[in-house]
Amino acid sequence: VGREHVLSAPDELLGFNTDWTGRFVGNAAAVVRPASTEEVAGVIAACVRNGWPVTAQGGNTGLVGGGITRAGGVVLSTRRIDDVRVDSAAGQVIAGAGATLGSVHERAQQTGLSYAVDLASRDSATIGGTIATNAGGLRVLRRGDTRAQVVGIEAVLGDGSVISHLGGLARDNTGYHLPSLLCGSEGTLAVVTRARLRLSNQLAARAVALFALESAKSAADAALHLRREPAVEAVELMLRLGLALVCEATGLPAPFPGQHAAYLLVEVSAGEDPLLALEPIVEGLAAIDVAVAADPAGQRRLWAYRERHTEAINTLGPPHKLDVTLPLDAFAHFVDTVPGVVEGTRPQARVWLFGHAAEGSVHVNISGLDPDDEAADDAVMTYVAALGGSISAEHGIGRAKVRWLSLNRSEAEIAAFGRLKQALDPAGILNPGVLLGQRI
Ligand SMILES: Cc1cc2nc3c(=O)[nH]c(=O)nc-3n(C[C@H](O)[C@H](O)[C@H](O)COP(=O)(O)OP(=O)(O)OC[C@H]3O[C@@H](n4cnc5c(N)ncnc54)[C@H](O)[C@@H]3O)c2cc1C
Repeated sequence: VGREHVLSAPDELLGFNTDWTGRFVGNAAAVVRPASTEEVAGVIAACVRNGWPVTAQGGNTGLVGGGITRAGGVVLSTRRIDDVRVDSAAGQVIAGAGATLGSVHERAQQTGLSYAVDLASRDSATIGGTIATNAGGLRVLRRGDTRAQVVGIEAVLGDGSVISHLGGLARDNTGYHLPSLLCGSEGTLAVVTRARLRLSNQLAARAVALFALESAKSAADAALHLRREPAVEAVELMLRLGLALVCEATGLPAPFPGQHAAYLLVEVSAGEDPLLALEPIVEGLAAIDVAVAADPAGQRRLWAYRERHTEAINTLGPPHKLDVTLPLDAFAHFVDTVPGVVEGTRPQARVWLFGHAAEGSVHVNISGLDPDDEAADDAVMTYVAALGGSISAEHGIGRAKVRWLSLNRSEAEIAAFGRLKQALDPAGILNPGVLLGQRI
């Protein structure tokens, strides 16, 4: 890769050895920055020969500690593989693994198209990272998660061999769908180097409204009704303390004169006038207060209250981040009761709830705990599973949730995961300790 693309000085390694939350600190001996698929294959082959673990890293915005290594070895940074080419005829984009989500959005928009997956971390998170975590984000309700967008993939497997299937044919039923397998594999089966992604038409005109509501439970209930409104693109839940913290930590002005127990941010799109599409929603919600934005700058201002939660919570010290999904009929009950579950286990903890409410998904963030104190995590995860939910809605398992995987996955499923791992990464060098822990 060239001497200048191998970093080993302690100060150069620091950023690559610390995850975004600051909770997980790794011990890579070197960072290697290949610029092409061939160079990635060369790096993997060298690591296999030497028995060095390899952890792929994109933007390092992952929130479950999957992008840092605790087994030493090499962090393979994909950031130099950042080419983006739109195939307008096919309505697809071919992007290097290290291209940021933001750069893909920008290129798609220049050709009148859009990429469906969008996250607040868009300017750092990479295409490879979003595939490896099967990122969800703000538009899952109508457009699906990352897995729903990937039509072709190129990757280097754990034995150094390259798989490449980037043709992008609209119909192609020739066996196992490897893009699906690599979506959510968290760097444990292969290093993704390039992908072909589906683009869609740009959203029709949009409007965004922020509603103030009287309780977390009523907001969660309302979110589930809103998902059935055809014009609704996104519904995000926030609570009083979270929104107040965002204003305090970021300097954003409070959205309303008073504070309220809960807030829903709702985005609608409509061919004609999106404000008309908002009207029945405003009437139906009977909110205490509402702020509406039809212009892009106003919409960004309202979205910022939601998007800046993650950074605001980080100002309190490394949080425990549990992103979970509940069956829709248990969602409001969970939102109402989970703070009590945490406080009953660790009274000193502070609980922050926000999230993609239309899908029954909520981020349970806990601050005020030592990084290694997992009693509250255990209580929440066990509670989620007992209600029939998932312990990871979108961030993956990483290192943070390995010990709870069996709450959601049977022994037979985990054994099948292990056989896939053995087949694609026979030397076991790809991201040891992540997703499957030390089991395999
Ligand atoms: C402010 C903020 C908001 C966020 N919002 C959301 C959200 O709404 N929805 C959501 O899903 N996530 C969200 N995230 C989490 C994060 O941005 C996503 O998980 C994202 O997909 C990670 O991309 P990355 O390039 O930063 O990956 P990294 O953090 O670098 O890596 C994440 C995992 O993917 C693996 N990996 C990375 N690149 C590759 C590759 N090329 N090949 C194989 N494995 C690879 C790593 O080994 C690691 O296991 C948010 C994070 C922040 C900080």
